[in-house]
Amino acid sequence: MAISPSFSIDELQKQFETASYDTILKWVAAEYGSAFSLACSFGAEDVVLLDALLKIDPNARVFVLDTGRLHQETYEVMERFRGRYGVAFEVYSPDTVSLQNLLRAKGPSSFYESIDNRKECCGIRKVEPLKRALAGQKAWITGLRREQAVTRLALPKAEIDLSHGGILKLNPLADWTEARVWQYIRTNDVPYNALHDKGFPSIGCVPCTRAVLPGEDLRAGRWWWEAPEHKECGLHTKRK
Ligand code: SF4
Repeated sequence: MAISPSFSIDELQKQFETASYDTILKWVAAEYGSAFSLACSFGAEDVVLLDALLKIDPNARVFVLDTGRLHQETYEVMERFRGRYGVAFEVYSPDTVSLQNLLRAKGPSSFYESIDNRKECCGIRKVEPLKRALAGQKAWITGLRREQAVTRLALPKAEIDLSHGGILKLNPLADWTEARVWQYIRTNDVPYNALHDKGFPSIGCVPCTRAVLPGEDLRAGRWWWEAPEHKECGLHTKRK
C-alpha cells in the first residue's frame, strides 16, 4: 500500500515543515478516514497527540504495543484515557510462540547481554506486533521529536515508511521542544504518566528504563548500557 498519487512526499514535507500539529492531524483525518492510526505508548508526546487527535476525530484508531514488560504507571494512564475520553485502544501483544521460544532459549533478561539480544527482544515484543498493528493502514502518526536523540536530528514531519509497505508516517511534533510538550499537557489538563514526575523523561519497558539525573540527556534512561547511536528499538528504524 503506498501513498496517494495525488501528492508527492516532497511537497508534503515542504508544506508540513511550517504547518501546525493540528493542521497535520486534520489533514490525515480528512485524507485517510479510518485507514490511519496513532501509535501510543503513553509518553508525554503521545498523550499530547491523543488529546489533540481525539478532539478532531473521537473515533480515530489508536493502537498500543503491550510488550508485557510495561510499567504499572503506563497502564494507569491508559485507564485514565479510557475513562475520560472513552477511547477503545487496540492493544497488540507479542506472538506467544516467539516469546515462549525466546524465554526458553535465553531467559527473561537476555537484553542486558548484547545489543543483538536486546534487538531480538524488541523485535518480538515491539517490532513484529507493530507490523500487525499497521497491516492495512495507509498512514500512521508518531510522537517522535528531533531533540529526543541523535538518531532523530533530521526527522521530517512526513516520510514514506518503507519498513511498513511504503505507507505515510507523520511526526507532527518533530520540531517541538520538551517545554512545549509540557505546556500543552498543563494547559489542556491532559492525563500523563506519573513516572514523568519521578525523573523519567522517556518511558519504555520496566527493565530497560530508569530515571535520569538533572542535566542528563532525555534518552539517557533508555538502554543506558548502550551507546546513544544504538538506542532505537526498531520501531522507527528506516529501511532504505
Ligand atoms: S525495551 Fe527491553 S524489555 Fe522491552 S522489548 Fe526492548 S529489550 Fe525487551
